[in-house]
Amino acid sequence: MPDIFKKGQKAALIAGSATILFAIAKAIVGFISGSIVLLADAIHSAADSFSTFFAWFGLKIAQKRPTEKFPYGFYKVENITALIISGLVLFAGFEIIKEAIDKILVVGELNIPLLAMGVAVLDAIVMFSVGCHEMKVGKLINSQSLTTDGKESKMHLFSSGIVLIGLFAKWFGIMYLEGVMGILISLFIFKIGIESGRDSIFALIDVSPSKEIEEKIEKILESIPGVKGFENLRLRKSGPFIFGEVQVKLGRSVNVSRAREISNNIEREIRRKVKSVDSLTVGVAPEVAESRKLCIPVEEEEGLNSKISTHFGRAKKFMFIELEKREIKNFYFKDNPFLEKEVRAGLEASGFVVKEKIDSIITKEMGPISLHTLRDNVVDVYQGVDGNVRELLEKFLKEKLKLLIVPTREK
Ligand SMILES: [Zn+2]
Repeated sequence: MPDIFKKGQKAALIAGSATILFAIAKAIVGFISGSIVLLADAIHSAADSFSTFFAWFGLKIAQKRPTEKFPYGFYKVENITALIISGLVLFAGFEIIKEAIDKILVVGELNIPLLAMGVAVLDAIVMFSVGCHEMKVGKLINSQSLTTDGKESKMHLFSSGIVLIGLFAKWFGIMYLEGVMGILISLFIFKIGIESGRDSIFALIDVSPSKEIEEKIEKILESIPGVKGFENLRLRKSGPFIFGEVQVKLGRSVNVSRAREISNNIEREIRRKVKSVDSLTVGVAPEVAESRKLCIPVEEEEGLNSKISTHFGRAKKFMFIELEKREIKNFYFKDNPFLEKEVRAGLEASGFVVKEKIDSIITKEMGPISLHTLRDNVVDVYQGVDGNVRELLEKFLKEKLKLLIVPTREK
């Protein structure tokens, strides 16, 4: 998993190098040309390079394996560095606004105007594309610091625009405008600092990830065979990763090893489909079944008087019964389409009844393959000796039927 940080580190390195180069270029050109906005923007870029360095550093630390002392790993270091970045960005904004207010009334000459403007235009183009790349990688690896940094880089389209207006103003000797533009730059730097600080603090106090991720995980939970319901799904962000817990409800007859299998399956499926999930602790509890649906292989269609079939795979019909709070709500019959099948009738019939979303089956006999198939789909198989549906149902509701763990015959 921590491999993905390498990608992020590389993106941060590219952005950082570009930012430092522009900080130096703007400082030099700003000094020679005598432009306050360009100098202010050089400070802005210098602050940016610190931010990007911290983003890189955070991703590096977050790759450390969990230790005995820090068993949950170092993912949150990423949020802490993002918080420090926010502080630095705010500080840069403060420095610029001071400078701009100081110089608002000063009108001077603008030397090398074309070079000064060229630097601003180049900064806009390069930093915008660098920012797009950072955001792409940041979203991919779920890194808050990288995404914030990328957002900031993209904003250079705007900040460089302000610099250009400031340069024009100075070039043509328009009063106030350059200082006002400097103030504007600092305002938007403040905005970035505040937003990124807010997100870091949220993550540090375990903010829930987006509604979107939550819904995705809920959908996966509903799709896992054997899961009858769930509650207390809680997710929290830690650096770029998500940790969580959930309570799932399983059928009452599910044994401990099967329950463990299901909970492993849940975690595996969720981690496979939602890459940012690092771990999900699954607790299990028996469901309190309000409604149940069972299947009985029968000889004929005689309502509740239908007799149970001697065979499961070769039964003429299957009767499906829907129970609501122990009362019969509805029942229907379906012909066994595999009645005439020479081989594997049991396997085919198992698949057929599972499609009806049953949770229990009452049968007189069952071979190993059918039993396996049904248990894999978390259907409880009960053994019913002779009798009609009414009698069997009565025993079933009194929990007097034997739960089949091993097949009644070998083949
Ligand atoms: Zn910037």
